[in-house]
Amino acid sequence: MAREFKMKFSAYQLIRESGMYISRNKIMHKVNYVQKNNNTIIIITNCGRKIVIRDSKKGRIIRWLEKKHLKKYLQKCKKCKF
Ligand SMILES: [Zn+2]
Repeated sequence: MAREFKMKFSAYQLIRESGMYISRNKIMHKVNYVQKNNNTIIIITNCGRKIVIRDSKKGRIIRWLEKKHLKKYLQKCKKCKF
């Protein structure tokens, strides 16, 4: 258990804490609901999209959510009401 704290954040943790999800086409959505089932994360965005992704400690989502300075390159979803 103690070891887990030293590890990098998982996608689930980052999504839950930031409240953001970034889609493949670099659009940022607000997260309305997020749930983790084993290795899978279920996300429902404010605009009503349901997204299922695998939880991991690397990958596209992690890169975007960790590096906050990259956010200027993202578009905000118009339906999510930022
Ligand atoms: Zn949206």
